[in-house]
Amino acid sequence: MKIAIYPGSFDPVTKGHLDILKTGAEIFDKVIIAVAKNSEKKGFLPIEERVKLIKESTKDFNNVEVDSFDGLTIEYAKKKRAKVLIRGLRAVSDFEYELQLSQANSALCEEIRTVFLTTKPKYNFISSSTIKEIYINNGDISKFVPEPVYNYLMEKK
Ligand code: ADP
Repeated sequence: MKIAIYPGSFDPVTKGHLDILKTGAEIFDKVIIAVAKNSEKKGFLPIEERVKLIKESTKDFNNVEVDSFDGLTIEYAKKKRAKVLIRGLRAVSDFEYELQLSQANSALCEEIRTVFLTTKPKYNFISSSTIKEIYINNGDISKFVPEPVYNYLMEKK
């Protein structure tokens, strides 16, 4: 069984993330989308809320699990018997950081490889931080986030 982990902040999950996840779920037998608790980024939504929103947004996938984890991604991957990490690439600007991260992970654990996926062009520019900015300034985020995230954020206002 080919298991892949899709780790990230997902703060909040976007249509870009879901497009990456969809492709991952077509390639691998199981994908675990996992919210990292130890991200250096200051959080917008609590981890439990991010997990809940991802669960609601991925309920139609039958080979996707949602989880959160502490500590090193490779340790989490080993625990889950996953040999692949999925990361997304938007632009060349993502590449340097993502390459470095994947090489650091390979140096820590040779058996675990990172696979890079891209989205459909219409989702390519979407990032959680852009969405937060639009939301805080009362712009329309309905095109960029799945419905559960949209409803949650509108209720929060
Ligand atoms: P992190 O803080 O770990 O970068 P994010 O939630 O911001 O977590 O992103 C998780 C992964 O999804 C990253 O590899 C990021 O590049 C990728 N990603 C996010 N949005 C998109 C998008 N619109 N297109 C392609 N990849 C994306």
